[in-house]
Amino acid sequence: MEKFAKVYFLGAAGVVTGSKFFIETSEKNILIDCGMFQGLKALRNLNWVDLPINVASIDVVLLTHGHLDHVGYLPRLLKQGFKGKIKATAPTLAIAEIILKDSAKIHEEEAHKANKENYTKHNLALPFYTIKDAENTIKLFEVENEGTWVRLSEHISFRYQYIGHIIGATFIELDINEKRFVFSGDIGRKNDYLLKDPKKPEWADVLFLESTYGNKLHPEEQIEGVMTEIILESIHKKGNLIIPSFAVERLQTLMYMLWRLYQKNRIPNIPIFVDSPMGNNVLEVFKRFPKWHKLTTQEYNAMCNHVNIIQSYKETWETINDKRSKIIIAGSGMITGGRVLTYLQQLIDEPSTTVLLVDYQAEGTRGRQLQEGAHEIRFFGKYYPVKATIMRVESLSAHADQQDILAWVSEIKNIPENVYLIHGEPTALDALSVKLKADYNWNVSVPKLADIEKFII
Ligand SMILES: [Zn+2]
Repeated sequence: MEKFAKVYFLGAAGVVTGSKFFIETSEKNILIDCGMFQGLKALRNLNWVDLPINVASIDVVLLTHGHLDHVGYLPRLLKQGFKGKIKATAPTLAIAEIILKDSAKIHEEEAHKANKENYTKHNLALPFYTIKDAENTIKLFEVENEGTWVRLSEHISFRYQYIGHIIGATFIELDINEKRFVFSGDIGRKNDYLLKDPKKPEWADVLFLESTYGNKLHPEEQIEGVMTEIILESIHKKGNLIIPSFAVERLQTLMYMLWRLYQKNRIPNIPIFVDSPMGNNVLEVFKRFPKWHKLTTQEYNAMCNHVNIIQSYKETWETINDKRSKIIIAGSGMITGGRVLTYLQQLIDEPSTTVLLVDYQAEGTRGRQLQEGAHEIRFFGKYYPVKATIMRVESLSAHADQQDILAWVSEIKNIPENVYLIHGEPTALDALSVKLKADYNWNVSVPKLADIEKFII
């Protein structure tokens, strides 16, 4: 075997999103994750540029987990000639399927809208990819077990290891010859409501480490106490408590927490409505893969029976017209789309309404505007005065903070030859880099987009 492996940083280098790492060897060419860039327009435009590698030469894609910024580019890979296999754990592939179909639907709708409103004066707007493209991608999925070494070729094998974060998520240990490359994926937190504690790597010659919250410590809030107060206050105001939520993981965590608060008699039996078609699909994944989370079948059923799961848009309107004080959890988490738009359009101008933000709110989103105290907000082309109370809790993040990241690498027995900090904003990358150098004296670097590193193996 040739003595070199080359790693191409094709995403999540200097930024959080677009995770893609291409590894070229003489035996196999491997892509770790295949995510979309998200966020600011300049970044999103990068999605339209073909990858600067021979895509047809990729033998296999290994996915760490099902989030859009780790799987959302896959259908574009097929368009560029990819014909290999896409491997991940069974729940990751189930989540990836939900995410890709949803993403394709949004791309088709956006293109349709652009053409209808003639956004592009001369050219026809084409969707980034279609539902058909997503379906063709899903045909290449191949399940691998967690915790088992898989041989890809004579000198290359890999293993998925449980990491929490979202259901199915793993980190990847990839052995090429005698050298171990470790890709952290996104690191979960310990003592999560639904997921078990992350496993930790014990050896890493070359480490690719996520740094999303590399500069932060999550606040130590007593989340159940804070939630109880907010709910009781909302009941006191005889209003609606609206919680915009991500469909994957967060929504299920909220359902579980609300059920627990009721069980422990901390809140009364207030009606709870869960309105997210995608969230319902994710609930099914929890049901199908009981070994991947902490809930017993009994708890899962009790939690689902405790809430009203909305199926149709007609029921959304019935819920809005229902005059009782209630809790509504609806997508999307940053109020950029989804059913939560209809609830807020109807209810945000009522002083009895409370909006509770539980997710990260990116720049340029309605969620961020509310978080920053906007007095009016636009829905479907019209402005509405914000009379609702806006609240926020921070500690529900599914990502490790700086302390958790340091704990995750603490069991590595060797001194890695190289540590690459990825999946972070510049301030987070810098802070984590300083900390790792100070604590471990490791050879840490922060790669830029399109960097290539060559390793002797
Ligand atoms: Zn993630």
